[in-house]
Amino acid sequence: MTFDGELKKRLIVAVASTVIENAEELTALDRAIGDGDHGLNMKRGFEAVLADLDGLAGKPLPEMCKGIGTHLVMTIGGASGPLYGTLFLALGKNLPEAPDLPEAARAFAAAVTAVKARGKSDAGEKTMLDVLQPVAKTLEAAAANGAGEDMTARLRAAADRGLETTRPLRATKGRASFLGERSIGHLDPGARSSQLLVHAACGVLSGLMAEAGGQRQ
Ligand code: ADP
Ligand code: MG
Repeated sequence: MTFDGELKKRLIVAVASTVIENAEELTALDRAIGDGDHGLNMKRGFEAVLADLDGLAGKPLPEMCKGIGTHLVMTIGGASGPLYGTLFLALGKNLPEAPDLPEAARAFAAAVTAVKARGKSDAGEKTMLDVLQPVAKTLEAAAANGAGEDMTARLRAAADRGLETTRPLRATKGRASFLGERSIGHLDPGARSSQLLVHAACGVLSGLMAEAGGQRQ
């Protein structure tokens, strides 16, 4: 798939706007089991990304992802800055310029592995990985079995299920782990921000697939 400048802009704007629009909810989730800064952290990071929209969209796809990662590392702070920074930096390192579905799936899986290494964490610990890992697995399954028209719906559903799995979990990583048993019964803020990112990217891609389908008729 070729990511032209227009598509790159649509993706960046969609992802950044969803984070900015939902910042208050992310902060409220983090207030319950953390220190109440996740929304502000993410908003700051993605405002920096938006401010560089033309510069980022003008780069080849791998460089664009690395550029996003660098902005996030430099502006977010907190635990999520280096983790989301790692996700995008590793995506940039592993994606070719015009990835097909298997290449995109491999790159996303490698990026999730890089987040695990950076966070010394894994799925099942009530973090963003509870969304990112099932999405990576769903993408790999789509690459192996053929995308199908409902691929983006399946990716969104995997993100939704992953988010919901964090509710009954006891956090063992990050600030929420300080609460021990009291972290049980709340959604993880980073899992919610990851789910928002997946929904936004899938929204753009499904729109694109619908347009391509429409043109074929
Ligand atoms: P901080 O915890 O420093 O205040 P944020 O509030 O911005 O940072 O981000 C918190 C989110 O980061 C958590 O909800 C969780 O999803 C994620 N997180 C924290 N530590 C880890 C880790 N070690 N591995 C993966 N994700 C983590
Ligand atoms: Mg926090």
